[in-house]
Amino acid sequence: MIGLRLGMFSSITGALTNSLISFSDSAILFASFAQADDAVNDHCLLYRKLQEAHRRSHMAAELLVQGSTLSVSIYYEHIPLLLTMFLSMMLIWRWIWLKIAPEDILRLTVREIPHPTSFHPDFCSFDFFPRSIGGGDIYVEASLSMFKELGFIETYRLRRRTLARFLLMVQKGYRDVPYHNWSHAFAVSHFCFMLLRMPSVQIALDDLERLSLFVACLCHDIDHRGTTNAFQLQSKTPLAQLYSSEGSVLERHHFAQTVSILSMEECNIFEQLTRKQYQTVLDHIREIILATDIAAHLRKVEKIRAMVEEGYDRDSTDHHYLLMCLLMTASDLSDQTKPFKFAKVIAENIYREFFSQGDLEKQMGNRPIEMMDREKACVPKMQLEFMDTVAVPVFDMLSRILPDLRGTYHTMMDTRERWATMEDVVTEEGLPKGGLEYLRNPDLEEKVEQRIEERRTEAEMVR
Ligand SMILES: [Zn+2]
Repeated sequence: MIGLRLGMFSSITGALTNSLISFSDSAILFASFAQADDAVNDHCLLYRKLQEAHRRSHMAAELLVQGSTLSVSIYYEHIPLLLTMFLSMMLIWRWIWLKIAPEDILRLTVREIPHPTSFHPDFCSFDFFPRSIGGGDIYVEASLSMFKELGFIETYRLRRRTLARFLLMVQKGYRDVPYHNWSHAFAVSHFCFMLLRMPSVQIALDDLERLSLFVACLCHDIDHRGTTNAFQLQSKTPLAQLYSSEGSVLERHHFAQTVSILSMEECNIFEQLTRKQYQTVLDHIREIILATDIAAHLRKVEKIRAMVEEGYDRDSTDHHYLLMCLLMTASDLSDQTKPFKFAKVIAENIYREFFSQGDLEKQMGNRPIEMMDREKACVPKMQLEFMDTVAVPVFDMLSRILPDLRGTYHTMMDTRERWATMEDVVTEEGLPKGGLEYLRNPDLEEKVEQRIEERRTEAEMVR
């Protein structure tokens, strides 16, 4: 019975996917025929292209259908099948209603692509705070520039218009939540861009892995709702109902959204890849996006540590996978490596998002965990705990495998020292620990800097 229901679901969803794809393929066919009306050979070529586009759309659609059927197996008893299908359609194909303005595409296609340093002279530095270049549209332009600088446009003959549409659609895919928004995706991609420029990374990973990593960074939090996986599961949200069977609810959704964009007309930046390359890139992107779940990272951290201890082996498939995961996690956490004044701004955004989830949980009659509770959470203390358990080990491993990143690791440790000192001062002076206002208190900041200065002077005198 379950098999029958799942089979039904699969075939119905497949049929719906097919009709959607047929619609977009017909549009491609129509547009393409207009250009090639007097050349029979061109028609043959076109037909082959169309068949190929069809196969690729199927490949992508299968990934989505597969994901949805798996989760249905857990929830079919609780949710009517049609409702699940409807949720799936709404979540995956919401893109149909998102429109890209032609002038935005024009803006990104007519001018020569600027060099990254034109956005800021320090753009190509690990210490640089990428959010400082402006807002959403500038991030799209800078992303285009990073694509070019990394050589992807040339190597994979990425069409300018397709890339522009893809980037604009990715931007639109992000919600206006305090932290997991388009500016976060851009900052993560910037750190990844810096990593991918390093000669040692260029040797360690192959071209397709580097392309996948960069695209995964741009897309890794698409349609994030500003709430955690635990919240999704606890509240039995539609997302949890669709993706909970294998864990990493949000990450599976982010990947499904990425595939949806790539399946859209004129958004498939991978159209020039061979079928095998296309499949490889999708597989990599899936693995990399799933690796952004911190719980998944913690499950494999010992394997990453072993790789770092043994030394990276370019012939090992496992090492390629673990390195991609490490680079993704490091990029995702790269805000922690910025000087304290920037790290503080970002911490405010993170905790604004956490506290609003906490508020929601309270409204629902639940008790949020300390980190999400605006009355209880002491941000400096929480930051220290997060850094010590997750971020510091990540950047310690990263800087051991990529010694050029030792400076970045030290900047992060400076930031960590400031969080620790701020916690000490707040505790000693009996200041209120909850909320976010005190993070912007200039007196507190001065006391923190003063205390660090005194400690350093004392240490030098002992020496
Ligand atoms: Zn992220």
